Parts: sequence; structure tokens; C-alpha cells
Amino acid sequence: MEPASRMLRNFLHFQQLDGRQVYQLRKLLEVELAASVVGRLTEHDFQQLEANMSACACCASDEEDHRHQRFLELEFHQLLARVCPNPLLAFMCQFLNDMLRDLVVIKKAYVPERKQFDHANQDYHRQLVDAYRAEDTQRVRQVMAEHMADAEHHMSALEAEMAAQMLISNDSPNLQNHRSKLHDLATENASV
Ligand SMILES: [Zn+2]
Repeated sequence: MEPASRMLRNFLHFQQLDGRQVYQLRKLLEVELAASVVGRLTEHDFQQLEANMSACACCASDEEDHRHQRFLELEFHQLLARVCPNPLLAFMCQFLNDMLRDLVVIKKAYVPERKQFDHANQDYHRQLVDAYRAEDTQRVRQVMAEHMADAEHHMSALEAEMAAQMLISNDSPNLQNHRSKLHDLATENASV
């Protein structure tokens, strides 16, 4: 799956893709995936989700740990994707998670301290696990939909901050040709 995902990500670096477009899909697909997993999680899966949440909560606030925390946050969603009975849906969600992970890997500047975001994520994950324990599909859908809408909001705020930083730090006349951050990231990543 990883080679296919990488090829598709490389292909997409020729497109002008931004965070809003990623979340436009993620808001739909993560909710569908989340619902498809209800009743399928084993005790081992629950243990992995709990371990992931504990690790997330333990992270300190320096930059390296912050990035690690973001990886863990995405890993929570990857754990759910591995249990998804629909391989196509699982692939699509994992692909979007990989794109977001690329974004965290490449640009240090993309990971300013956003404690509010971390706390919100941890809270949503806890609510999700509780809803899974109760096998409450409606609740799972509701919490995941809220989680994705909230994450999109934070992503947009982050992109706006980044754009503002570029305006301050870059007075190049080519600035109007500036492409989306995600595009730049994918481009840089393609050479890694
Ligand atoms: Zn999450």
C-alpha cells in the first residue's frame, strides 16, 4: 500500500492542493470509516488505541515532541483504518493521513505550538473510544464529524498564519506565484 500511496502523493504534487481540499474529503471519509469500525474492535485494538492516547497525553511541548504528538494523532486514525472492512475506504483514509504526515515531516514551521488543538484532539479521541466501547454508531459518526470539522478549522488557521509569515519574511516579486503549502511540501518531499 505504501508504494501506491507514495506514487499518488507524488502525482498530486503537480496539482495545487491545499488543506481545505484534503479536509473536504477527510470530513466525509473519516466519518464513514469510523462508522464501519463499530463492533469490530478487539480488546487488542482497544489496548492499542488506549496506548496511543496515553503516549499523546505524555508528550512535552517542545517542537520535536509536538511533531511526535501530531504523528501519534494521525496514528490513532491509522489504527482505525486497519480495522476497516472496506479496503478502498481504508486506503483512501490512510492516503489522506499520509499526506498530512508528509506535511508535518517536511516543514518544521508547520508545527507551531497549538495546545488547544492537541487538547481538542485528545478529547475527541477519548469520546470516540467511549462510543466504540458502547458500540454507538450514531455517536461515533457525530464525534468524528465534529473532530474533522475542528481539525479543518485549526488547519485553516495554521495555513493563514503560514501565509502571513511568508508575507513578512519574503518580499520576493514572485510571491503572487506562491502555491499552496501542501503543494510545496509535496514537491520537497518528492526529492527526499
Ligand atoms: Zn484525531
